[in-house]
Amino acid sequence: MDLQELRTANEKRHIEWAQDNDIPLSFRGVELAGEVGEACNEIKKLERTRIGIAGGKEGLADLTEELADVLICVDLIAMDLNIDLSAALRAKFNKTSEKLNLKTRL
Ligand SMILES: [Mg+2]
Repeated sequence: MDLQELRTANEKRHIEWAQDNDIPLSFRGVELAGEVGEACNEIKKLERTRIGIAGGKEGLADLTEELADVLICVDLIAMDLNIDLSAALRAKFNKTSEKLNLKTRL
């Protein structure tokens, strides 16, 4: 799946989910922070298992879902602000490579 497929689905589902309501950027930001927090919580549980303390879990299924939620939320913010996320990713990835004198480019 590419980012355009995600954007198209986010646009379609936004209409279905939010109808005529304008979703403020502050909501989108809190939504993203929540999903990042959920991903970090899953990492915490995996780390508990790794270091051998109670309350851990094994397997990547839940972390995988939360990472997907993070990407969905990032795209929702970009969608609301008409940001071309594919172009932004390419530009930023390459900018960091150039800054660190690394050869890998998108
Ligand atoms: Mg989530």
